[in-house]
Amino acid sequence: MTTQAPTDRSTAPRKVAFLGLGTMGFPMAGHLAKAGHTVTVYNRTAAKADAWVAAHGGRAAATPEEAATGADAVFLCVGGDDDVRAVATEAITAMAPGAVIADHSTVSAAVSREMDGVARAHKVFFLDAPVSGGQAGAENGALTVMVGGDADAFARAQPLMAAYGRSVVHMGPSGAGQLTKMVNQICIAGLVQALAEGMSFAQKAGLDGHKVVDVISKGAAQSWQMDNRARTMLDGRFDFGFAVDWMRKDLGIVLDEARRNGATVPVTALVDQFYADVQAMGGNRLDTSSLMKRLTR
Ligand code: NAP
Repeated sequence: MTTQAPTDRSTAPRKVAFLGLGTMGFPMAGHLAKAGHTVTVYNRTAAKADAWVAAHGGRAAATPEEAATGADAVFLCVGGDDDVRAVATEAITAMAPGAVIADHSTVSAAVSREMDGVARAHKVFFLDAPVSGGQAGAENGALTVMVGGDADAFARAQPLMAAYGRSVVHMGPSGAGQLTKMVNQICIAGLVQALAEGMSFAQKAGLDGHKVVDVISKGAAQSWQMDNRARTMLDGRFDFGFAVDWMRKDLGIVLDEARRNGATVPVTALVDQFYADVQAMGGNRLDTSSLMKRLTR
């Protein structure tokens, strides 16, 4: 079943919990509060939860278990596989039968299926629901949400996720959301490297890089990356956006999955190594467009 989010974002007020108030989770939880839901938040570093409550109202809980108790729906956005395993397992044990937990972190399909099993054992529904759109998408409520798991649970959670998702789509059974996000990251990795090579070439050729982008972005070379990252690459600005450390986590997940399913992803594997170079240069928290730095060092 594939369901597109309705443009009407209204839904009956619900009791929800949001676990993990990082770059993404903080604004996403804020959109749930603005949509009129009763939101309880949990963050490992309590000061962030207190700051969220000061900004949005609601309540801060001391543990995932406390936050999830009595919630109709629980959302989390944390880090990698081990983080999801720890936070989701604790929340699930406290949830009422029939409630839904949706994970917005980017993790492996394997851990999503594992959590689906843990949830089913507690008569709870687990959805893997990674997002695309970055910090700006989270702040503007314009994320793309790719969801795997039970179709009825998706139908119930989708109006809630529409508070921060412009497009909320059911992709198939457990793991299908994470697999879709892997395709997203494969499509980005090679493209960003090609863009860095183009911008570096323009500079070496003595061209006005900004003028080059103005011209070629009107033609077949146009992309989101070109529109949003080419000019900042030329200006040597990388202190924003999606961090190299997160991209390496995501590409590691992709390469593991490709080894399992037999997909051939040589460019993705190569670009992963280029990101390792950027990390070795100290660029762990730089934006993914910092591939340009490798070419201009
Ligand atoms: P972030 O700013 O580093 O925040 C991570 C959050 O998770 C923090 O609240 C952190 O708590 C919490 N956390 C991490 N491990 C935990 C654990 N073991 N137990 C409890 N809490 C834990 O990360 P982010 O940028 O929001 O990204 C979160 C997820 O979304 C990642 O999977 C990432 O790949 C994905 N994502 C990010 C973007 C983006 O542009 N940033 C875009 C799409 C997807 P503390 O405050 O205590 O550290």
